[in-house]
Amino acid sequence: MDDCIFCKIIKGEIPSYKVYENGDVLAFLDITPVNSGHTLVISKNHYDNLIDLPEEEAGKLINVIKKITPAIVKATEADGFNLNLNNGSAAGQVINHVHFHIVPRKNNDGYKLWPGHVYPAGEAEIVLEKIKSNL
Ligand code: AMP
Ligand code: ZN
Repeated sequence: MDDCIFCKIIKGEIPSYKVYENGDVLAFLDITPVNSGHTLVISKNHYDNLIDLPEEEAGKLINVIKKITPAIVKATEADGFNLNLNNGSAAGQVINHVHFHIVPRKNNDGYKLWPGHVYPAGEAEIVLEKIKSNL
């Protein structure tokens, strides 16, 4: 897509710190990392989000994530990592070219995940049935 920042990175029109690339997938450093080594993994074909991404392309992204994450963890001496995908603006997606975030994590980096809550009585059953009826 002409006006997509990530497509411009793929085409080399915008510079990036390339971590890994193959014919289908590009991984590069996030320009505003949560922690050092924070890497974005994108398909070279443009899809807005995970819902639009064909299964075959999803598999290619996961294969690259599996390949490069151990190197990212080792290089950054991380204790773990978050694999995150923001889907839609409500979930924090800013760039509408589907991408996974690999965020190296340290035991003491101070970041917390968002809190969970207990289901009110009956809600789990209701939402479960609604989800299943939409499969
Ligand atoms: P999201 O909120 O999931 O859409 O994440 C978009 C991410 O892209 C943010 O973490 C940005 O820091 C990152 N980003 C935006 N522009 C660039 C760029 N030119 N090079 C590398 N990362 C970028
Ligand atoms: Zn794009």
